[in-house]
Amino acid sequence: QITRAEVGKMEIVGNYTDFLEVYLPKRPLLQYVWDYLRLNYSATLRSPLFPVILTVSSYFIFCVLYLVFNIMGRRWPLIHKYKIQQNRNPTASMMLRCIGITAYNHLVFIFPAAVAQWYWRPPIPLPEEAPTMIEAIVGIIGSLLLFDFQYFIWHMLHHKNRWLYKTFHAIHHDYMALFSLATQCLGGWKLVTVGFWTTVDPIILKCHLLTTWTFMVFHVYVSVEDHCGYDFPWSTSRLVPFGMYGGPAKHDVHHQKPMSNFAPHFAHWDKIFGTHAEYNYSKGYLEPGSINE
Ligand SMILES: [Zn+2]
Ligand SMILES: [Zn+2]
Repeated sequence: QITRAEVGKMEIVGNYTDFLEVYLPKRPLLQYVWDYLRLNYSATLRSPLFPVILTVSSYFIFCVLYLVFNIMGRRWPLIHKYKIQQNRNPTASMMLRCIGITAYNHLVFIFPAAVAQWYWRPPIPLPEEAPTMIEAIVGIIGSLLLFDFQYFIWHMLHHKNRWLYKTFHAIHHDYMALFSLATQCLGGWKLVTVGFWTTVDPIILKCHLLTTWTFMVFHVYVSVEDHCGYDFPWSTSRLVPFGMYGGPAKHDVHHQKPMSNFAPHFAHWDKIFGTHAEYNYSKGYLEPGSINE
């Protein structure tokens, strides 16, 4: 025998399930995003040129956003208080030089490599299934950790070996006070290795294409953030707890004191190898005498 109260309860439960069915997505969120991209832009996404276009365009978008602060910031006290080296600002000729180097590297190294890939690599098949949110997050963090380790070793070698430093890496240390465009003020060889690891790491970790592209864009973002010259409250290093992430202040120390903070993302390798250096907030910036210590 079912009582009136029980019938009422069943109706509520029934209505609730109807509500869930109508309003909650039947597929995971990323599946919607992936289906939309896959069904509408299949030819573009399958092109081997797509990752290059994606990373180059996101680099310029992030650079321009921070460049506004680099140019106007000193007139806006609300922004300027977050500047890491308060008294040093980039000049127009520094910025133009970096744009020139970036354009040269892309024309001479990156685009020919991408076009060559276009010839010898068949278009990539797009899987039907999207990654789950957990798979995507694990893939992105895994790729960042793997890249962090490779670049740490590579970067340390280029500082310890005089020939490697002078030939390939010194150009990136032309500026001690950073601004967004200095991110890719690099020797072509360095840009090629960075591009190679960024491409290969998600493949090693068997990441989905959607995860791979998200990792690539995030990687570009944090690289620009490291060089933007500001330590904003939304810096990745402030969002990741326990000082696990280096961020703009620590990379700024690397540009002032080049034998420290070799890791591009996380702080653990520098702590293990004894090359970790904290930014000194009370001084504002390191004194010139402490450079190359
Ligand atoms: Zn740098
Ligand atoms: Zn360096």
